[in-house]
Amino acid sequence: MRRLRFAIIGSGMAGILAAIRLREAGHDDVTVFEKADRLGGTWRENTYPGIACDVPSYVYSYSFEPNPDWSHRFSPGGEIQRYFEGVADRYGVTPLVRFSEEVTSLEWRDGAWDLRTSQGAEERFDVVIAATGVLHHPNIPHFEGLETFRGAAFHSARWDHDVPLDGRRVGVIGTGSTAVQIATALIPRVERFTLFQRTAQWVIRVDNPEITDAEKERYRTDPAKLESVRAQLASAFRDAFSAAVIDADSPGIKAVEDQCRRNLEDSVVDPVLREKLRPNYRAACKRLIASPDFYEKIQEPNAVLATEAIERIEPEGVRTADGTLHELDVLVLATGFKPDRFVRPTRVVGVDGVDLDDAWRTRPNAYLSVSVPGFPNLFLLNGPNGPVGNFSLIEVAEMQMAYVMQLVDVLAEERARSVAASAEASAAFEAERREAAMRTIWVTGCRSWYLDDEGIPASWTFTFQRFTDEMRAPKLDHYVLTS
Ligand code: NAP
Repeated sequence: MRRLRFAIIGSGMAGILAAIRLREAGHDDVTVFEKADRLGGTWRENTYPGIACDVPSYVYSYSFEPNPDWSHRFSPGGEIQRYFEGVADRYGVTPLVRFSEEVTSLEWRDGAWDLRTSQGAEERFDVVIAATGVLHHPNIPHFEGLETFRGAAFHSARWDHDVPLDGRRVGVIGTGSTAVQIATALIPRVERFTLFQRTAQWVIRVDNPEITDAEKERYRTDPAKLESVRAQLASAFRDAFSAAVIDADSPGIKAVEDQCRRNLEDSVVDPVLREKLRPNYRAACKRLIASPDFYEKIQEPNAVLATEAIERIEPEGVRTADGTLHELDVLVLATGFKPDRFVRPTRVVGVDGVDLDDAWRTRPNAYLSVSVPGFPNLFLLNGPNGPVGNFSLIEVAEMQMAYVMQLVDVLAEERARSVAASAEASAAFEAERREAAMRTIWVTGCRSWYLDDEGIPASWTFTFQRFTDEMRAPKLDHYVLTS
């Protein structure tokens, strides 16, 4: 077996997974580069009040590390962060991580990657796995006067925990999953909570019960029971939702719409507020919001739903187009992320000096979300065009990593020195993917981060079953192998 040197970029959920799988397969030269001083990825970055994962916890866990101790059906972010830290420790991943060391550039030269870091290191690696996350770089829109605001202002992924919240006037811009989780957590705590809504969102009601000690004990003593709950939830979640979103005419999507509409009608009493909260596009066109109690909370007397456009930000608060000044002590931008970055801003230069920035000039794409033509031995986990949205990205990353391991075997067994998707296979996949996109719910008339510069969803637009099938084994004739 050829001894390969592996670099993994990022120590979030996917980076930890990659390190575990490589080591299990007997690869002992694995380095994880992490620009921050702690692992955990999105769960390290996002610490806003109310943060939780709206994918059921028994599904949002590694298949090989089921956790009988989840506190809730949808557990809070801090608990998820501790879960990842625990797994990384147990599997010996933490000592492989070089913290506070950002990969600044990768250059493919003479059959290997020259990697440079922010610490000035220059090293060669045979294989690079980019586990750099999907939604990582905050989107901070321009708001006139933001710098004049006298209170505290920050993005939801840069929460300033030194800023007091209790009994104060807090405003949040945005109505995505993040804003909704913040709203439900803060409305009971603050004097006044103002939610600045540009677009109303469909909200599906999901209950979030605590897991009782008896249940945890049952899962601890009977791992088969835990596995069966996980399998059941995973398939219900996948089969019902993934089939629905890729077919805008499916009965599944209509059932989701009915549930959302019923939630709105049954929960919001004031007809004026109800209409303000009613979206004018189809449910799940934007990423569906799941919440046990958003509608209850937004009807509290200290909650304000501001639907007029934001005109500017002033020292005392936010001025909306109707002339109202919404006075605030704290302003949170829950304005989402730049969804097209992936491994960038790391500079990546592939075969013949082609820069990834140029290869992705029109838009980022990757064959089956894993490999980019002209960038050999570089594998992406949760890269462009993968299943994102209301799915467990852990399940997605596990399948991708199992696929990548088979490409790694090709290199380790010296069947090739390098491997990258062929331009033809990649173009055919992209054409088919874009065509399938036109049948999905995501193109039925809304603005969302799923859509690329041409309004086409950048995600996996086929069935989840097709993803599972594709990930089972690479078709090597879709790859360029060099010896
Ligand atoms: P998001 O879904 O992209 O929402 C951003 C919000 O900011 C939208 O409401 C958007 O309005 C608003 N906005 C952006 N620019 C604005 C402007 N200039 N003026 C006014 N409003 C503006 O971001 P997010 O809520 O952070 O969520 C991002 C993704 O992270 C989610 O879709 C989900 O995939 C993931 N997430 C998951 C969980 C979970 O529990 N699993 C929790 C949080 C986030 P428009 O709608 O009008 O564009």
